[in-house]
Amino acid sequence: MAGSTVSILVPVGGPSQPATAVRETIERYLATTGFTFEVIVLEDECYGAAVRRGIADARGNVIVIVDPDLPYPVTAIGDAVAMIESGTTDVVFAAPHDGRGEPSSLVRWVLVPYLPDTSLKLKAFSSSSAKLVAAETKHGSDACDLEIGFLVNKYGFRVERLHVEVAPGASVRAMNPLRALLGALRIRLTNRSMGYRAARRCPVCFSPEVWTCAQIPGNVVRACARCKCRYLNQFAMPDEDDTHPVRRVLRPHPIPPEMPEMVHSDPARAKTSRRRITVLRKQVPAHARLLEIGVRDGSFGAAASQEYDYVGIDRSPAVARHARGRGLEVYCATLANFVNTGPAFDAITSFHVFENMPDPHDALSRIKDLVKPGGILFLTTFDTEGLVYLLTERKRMAQNFRTHLILYSRSAMIELLENSGFEIESIGPDFEYRDHKFLRHVVGSRWPLAAPLVRAALRILPDPLLVGTGSIRIVARRRAGAAHNVRSIRAVEPTHAR
Ligand SMILES: [Zn+2]
Repeated sequence: MAGSTVSILVPVGGPSQPATAVRETIERYLATTGFTFEVIVLEDECYGAAVRRGIADARGNVIVIVDPDLPYPVTAIGDAVAMIESGTTDVVFAAPHDGRGEPSSLVRWVLVPYLPDTSLKLKAFSSSSAKLVAAETKHGSDACDLEIGFLVNKYGFRVERLHVEVAPGASVRAMNPLRALLGALRIRLTNRSMGYRAARRCPVCFSPEVWTCAQIPGNVVRACARCKCRYLNQFAMPDEDDTHPVRRVLRPHPIPPEMPEMVHSDPARAKTSRRRITVLRKQVPAHARLLEIGVRDGSFGAAASQEYDYVGIDRSPAVARHARGRGLEVYCATLANFVNTGPAFDAITSFHVFENMPDPHDALSRIKDLVKPGGILFLTTFDTEGLVYLLTERKRMAQNFRTHLILYSRSAMIELLENSGFEIESIGPDFEYRDHKFLRHVVGSRWPLAAPLVRAALRILPDPLLVGTGSIRIVARRRAGAAHNVRSIRAVEPTHAR
């Protein structure tokens, strides 16, 4: 921590106010923390102008805006700096314990759910987030704080709240609700007339209408308003080459220990695989050449190799080894580095692996090169427009993104496949076999009230049971003609904000 530098901005709102005492308090405190620091007193009349000038001048890698009368303990500054320094967040908004300056739900509905408290100015930023956000702010006075909250969400920065103890005698003034609402509407209008720089685009449909929809440990989940997909804001595949246009850094988030109830038994997996083969059989003749991307436990490979000329690839060496142990032809490779030495494939299957690929356009163009014209692509993937997803989204956000990078909607998948040289043969809900043990665990943990009823029902139902998983099953056929050149669209994209 010794190497970090902190810039403290004190917007005093005019030359008359005595800022020396506050300045001395802050300097005395920061001298005890070991940070290299600078305190910048901003005497501009307009708060917005003061913040913009202060952030532009600040040299620290953490930038803190404080209230000129410091109505909270000076240690709150250190707490805010520590939150940024630890890398858990990009932005910190302080709020009093009673939440007196919390913007109304109407204002939050007009703008974004996470907004700074309007009664306190205390905020901390990493220098990159501060420079980007401050450079885009347009409004003066109090609305500038709401604007900062809005832009932080627009550009996908992570926000944490810091609760501070406000001294009992201190005069803290919350923003007038009507002024806040008018300010919010003005910000929306500016955004609508493209007054702010566009956010980095959706990796699926390239729309700039993307917003932060949730924060999960160590990361931010973004939602595209156009194609309804959800994706992690920051990711990078551990062993990929550097050719991805979506180049991000993965921040690890804790993985809970695997629960034995969540592991599906071999009979359930085998039955699911046989069901998938039945679907494939309608499209692909026996002894055709088949590639599976993402082999996992090899149950599909074991079933498919009896009818087809089966080849599998998986990025994990342990998985590939295990599958080879079962007598399957499986290579440890990713889609990007797999070289097909035989003839083109008649069919390619991939079950719940597409969600883990960082660049769907690149993945589909590689799949298209591997399959022969008229060949089949058989995918299963989560559906963000499905009822199961919509009902469980809020609760299971962190769980959904534990292994997945992008979750697609049904319409995004259709558009994506059609733009990549495939035509949809069939699309529908996907069903998988689940053990009673697993179902009892799921119902018991999510809907405890319904558990006795489900337990009674399970007694008369077959085990494993066929259930809908909220996913979709897509069978697409490679078109013979040339595809749209998606890469050329990407090449003329404007520079993005982050
Ligand atoms: Zn999109």
